[in-house]
Amino acid sequence: MRVLLLAGTAEARALSHRLAAMEGIELVASLAGVTRAPAALGGTIRTGGFGGPEGLKRWLAAERIGAAIDATHPFAARMQANAAEACRAAGVPLLRLSRPEWRPLPGHPWHDVDTLSDAVAKLPPGAVAFVAAGRSAAEALLRDDVRFVLRALEPPAALRPNLKVLLAPPGRTAEAESALFRAEGVTHLISKNAGGAAGWPKLEAAAALDIDVLMIRRPAPPEGVPTVSDPEEAANWLATAAAKGATRA
Ligand code: NAP
Repeated sequence: MRVLLLAGTAEARALSHRLAAMEGIELVASLAGVTRAPAALGGTIRTGGFGGPEGLKRWLAAERIGAAIDATHPFAARMQANAAEACRAAGVPLLRLSRPEWRPLPGHPWHDVDTLSDAVAKLPPGAVAFVAAGRSAAEALLRDDVRFVLRALEPPAALRPNLKVLLAPPGRTAEAESALFRAEGVTHLISKNAGGAAGWPKLEAAAALDIDVLMIRRPAPPEGVPTVSDPEEAANWLATAAAKGATRA
């Protein structure tokens, strides 16, 4: 069975290698093409958008895809919605693989906000805000009375005098993140509720240093798509879908 994996996350990468090794599965792993040097994926790799839900529906038929797994980032709302719509229309079973949300550490509650702009609006004058919300976040950091430190993997298009950009991946330990926050004089942390282990140390550091956290809620996922949080469960779902497909054939 030919399988589409919508990738762009560490979970998708782990799952791609697993699925590529599964007997009877021909994997096509898809990337949006936004990262210049993406980490290696299992299966055949295709890059770039499909052209909205209609384009994806046509692509699914042309490629004779029997099942799809959407393992894109929790904030990749458009791709999630497109996948749900196209797979429904094409009759292709779809599973969503999404890492669990982060929860606040005991004794250090955070402020949930709906958008990055809401978080920026809540900063008090004179704040130094560390922003871990991707390079496109720069466009929303529109306060002159606040200093922003934006960490991203790729440089943002918008630059301003009160915006410092750190081109780096998340720190690996709470100690490393604490040292960085101290060095930058950080008073507030703005983060997407991305979940996952890689971004967690900054939240431990914020709790240790009593830094206020403004946490951007995840966009609502499309309705009616079964969801798992573990690549292992996704592989099991696919094995079942493949067995059903073989019975129907
Ligand atoms: P998005 O807003 O949901 O998607 C924008 C468009 O990019 C989609 O409509 C689709 O184009 C294309 N696209 C997205 N993911 C794709 C994939 N895996 N394969 C092929 N085309 C894809 O997504 P985004 O937030 O820009 O994220 C883009 C990619 O970066 C995703 O794969 C996501 O997993 C990854 N990522 C996102 C974040 C984040 O915070 N948003 C963080 C880390 C990684 P068409 O409509 O033309 O098909």
